[in-house]
Amino acid sequence: MRSALSRRNFFHHSFGLAAGGVLLRNLGLTGRGPAIGRSTPLIVTSHPNATGRRAMEVGWEILAAGGRAIDAVEKATNVIEVDPEDTSVGYGGLPNEDGVVQLDASIMDGRTYNAGAVASLENIKTPSSVARLVMDRTDHVMLVGPGALEFARSFGFQEENLLTEKGRLEWLKWRENRGPDDDWGPADHLRGLPETEAGLPGPPTHEHGTVNVLAVDSYGDVAGITSTSGLSWKVPGRIGDSPIIGAGLYVDNEVGAAGATGRGEDVIKSCASYYIVLRMRDGRSPQQACEDALAMIREKYARVNPAFMPGEKFVAINKNGEIGAAWSYSGGRPTMSVRSAAGPDVFTGVNFVTGEG
Ligand code: ASP
Repeated sequence: MRSALSRRNFFHHSFGLAAGGVLLRNLGLTGRGPAIGRSTPLIVTSHPNATGRRAMEVGWEILAAGGRAIDAVEKATNVIEVDPEDTSVGYGGLPNEDGVVQLDASIMDGRTYNAGAVASLENIKTPSSVARLVMDRTDHVMLVGPGALEFARSFGFQEENLLTEKGRLEWLKWRENRGPDDDWGPADHLRGLPETEAGLPGPPTHEHGTVNVLAVDSYGDVAGITSTSGLSWKVPGRIGDSPIIGAGLYVDNEVGAAGATGRGEDVIKSCASYYIVLRMRDGRSPQQACEDALAMIREKYARVNPAFMPGEKFVAINKNGEIGAAWSYSGGRPTMSVRSAAGPDVFTGVNFVTGEG
């Protein structure tokens, strides 16, 4: 889900208010929080909205018919990628600081221990399907920029302008409000006058969002995808965690899968998805493992700037159909859309900062 936060809130959150609850978690002593066991097959997404729920139905149809997890996650992710209203993923994603939409995506198939990714891909609505072709049709794992686009074209993908009118207006608003010392907006002598205030008003929000889709099929095989337009207004060419295997996504067929949303720079440095899967391998539940990863990141920053905690959302499943989610935003709790034989469901995880959940 796309969330809009001020740049400052997005980058870090104070821990002052919730120190007690966090401390216990950081010591790995609580392990509390939801850990729902469901029958498999199972598919989940970090998107709790209507499109996420629709995507789960598309993925579920494949799983219920005895299809593979890898196909279910791809087709489900495509539903979210082509949604023009979703400003965090695929078509309609918010652009970089030059107004160009650059997409990142990765896919991993536990059954074959294979992976594919694309980064800084322009003009293609469904980057996860391009990532899948990198996985299936090459011996490489990641293609970037013009090479990724050329690759997609060679497989018949149509080039389209991914910047919707909604995205373009948001970008113009950001450009005009990002600072008082540039030349965007009304002429200097008209600034602040009532008749010119109605230009492109609004705070220079820093927006972000990503989708993770994880599944286990009826053969017990696990697969996952992470797809994003990355941080809005990013420096052109910036690549986040989403296309990096081990950072934005990891799948281990013996264990389960994990995916990340949030400030990608921290997810890259902490190899968070790999860490979560390793924790599950060591016997931690998906819920505990997601919280463990946030505790690990907090601990790294504690040595440098104790007040700093980046905003991250981690989601995970294991082969038994247990689910976990945790985030480090200053309010609310992370939710996910879930689909299994028990029907559609919503999973609510833990707020690592406030201790809710
Ligand atoms: N993780 C994404 C990135 O850093 C953005 C997000 O999930 O908010 O590109």
